Formats: sequence, C-alpha cells, structure tokens
Amino acid sequence: MPTRIEIVPCLSDNYAYLVKSGDACAVVDPSEAAPVRAALAARGWTLTHILNTHHHPDHCGGNLELKKETGAIVVGPGKDAARIPGIDVGVTEESGWEFDGRKVQVLEVPAHTRGAITFVIDGNAFTGDTLFSMGCGRLFEGDATMMWNSLSKLMTLPDDTEIYCGHEYTESNGRFALTLEPDNDALQKRMEEVRALRAAGKPTIPVSMATEKATNPFLRPDAPQIRKSLGMEGADTVAAFHEIRARKNRF
Ligand code: ZN
Ligand code: FE
Repeated sequence: MPTRIEIVPCLSDNYAYLVKSGDACAVVDPSEAAPVRAALAARGWTLTHILNTHHHPDHCGGNLELKKETGAIVVGPGKDAARIPGIDVGVTEESGWEFDGRKVQVLEVPAHTRGAITFVIDGNAFTGDTLFSMGCGRLFEGDATMMWNSLSKLMTLPDDTEIYCGHEYTESNGRFALTLEPDNDALQKRMEEVRALRAAGKPTIPVSMATEKATNPFLRPDAPQIRKSLGMEGADTVAAFHEIRARKNRF
C-alpha cells in the first residue's frame, strides 16, 4: 500500500502531516489537536500513531488530547523521552521503527534540541525544525558543529527524498539566501516558484533534497559566492556555517 501524505496547517506557520498507509495513520508533529481532528474526519481516517520530531510545544502540543481521543501510540526520540508528552515508544537511530509493516529510518539530528530526530518513511523525510526549506533551525541546545553534522547526515539521504519540515518559513528563508548567493540560478528559480505558491495560499512543502542542496545556504557553506559574501574565503566549513547562522539570526 503506497503512503499518502496530507499537509495539515496548524497555529500560524506550523505544519503537521498525516501519513496514511493501509489501516495505519500517523500524524507528525501535532502542535494542536483541532486541525488534525478535522483533517482526519474530512477523510474518514482513524489515527493510530503520533510521531514527534522534538519536544517543543509547537510540535507535540496536541499529543495528549489526540492520544486520549483515539488511543494513538506516541512515538518520539528515545533520548528525549522525558520531554515528550504521553510518549509510548522511544526510538533511536539504532532501533529505527516500523510503520504498517515497513521500515522507518530514524536519524538523530541534534542541535535545535538535544533529542531532535528525523523520520524517513518511504523516501519522505520529516525533519521538524532541523532542516527547513532554504533554512535550518535555531541552535537552542547545540552549537554550529553539531548542527552542521546533523545537516550533513540529512544530506546523505537520496536526492529524490521529499523533505517535509515543521514550518512554512520558506519565502523569508529564500530572501535571506539571496543576500548571500544572488547569482544562484537554482535559488532564483525556486524563489519564483515559492512566491507564486505563497501568493496562491499554497504550501511550499514538500521540496526535494536535490533542490535543497542547490538552494539552501546552510547546506552550501562552501559555495564560492557565499564565501565571498561572508568575506570568509579561507575559513573552514563550520566557521562559515556558524557565520551564516549568525547572519540569519539578525536578518
Ligand atoms: Zn522547535
Ligand atoms: Fe517549531
């Protein structure tokens, strides 16, 4: 049975995702219960699992309500289980997970939070607040080295991996990216698409890993024009990455 994914906009700019396979239906990062409940009802789907990429309330705020209503099993980072409301199954990179009889890859990607994980289901990566389209999460519980290592791990996924991230930050991320790499053709093209999608009220997600590698400055700290914009042609990769993150914080 192929996997079906539905985007559920939550709060002001969060995305939860319904992942349907056979009789199983998971929600990824339900920040609140109401929009998820409505999306399930509209399709006649029954929730069986709740997946959390990290402990922030805008990713697991709906856990307890949805669990109480549906009996869904809560699956989250095993190394951060104490901070995941209602957690039943703690997963690690070693344990992985299984959903409707298929293997789910779990990647530990600390830095935004210590316990952050990415779930990869059938070539779809749910990256939470680690990798955004053309951006990355803030370094709340890790440093630039840790985030660079986590993003490098995500970059080992196949280029046709579809990225489903936690927030609709794409347009503002792209505006920042253009300040560093104005002559990047792939970036210009992606921004045209993104502006058109947003003008039509549509999500910019999913996006392929190939597009992210070609456009996301946080995956491109060694790109020559980015180095020139930073004035850091001779610096090492992590130092350049750190400076990109610092500039984005001020953008
Ligand atoms: Zn977060
Ligand atoms: Fe978030």
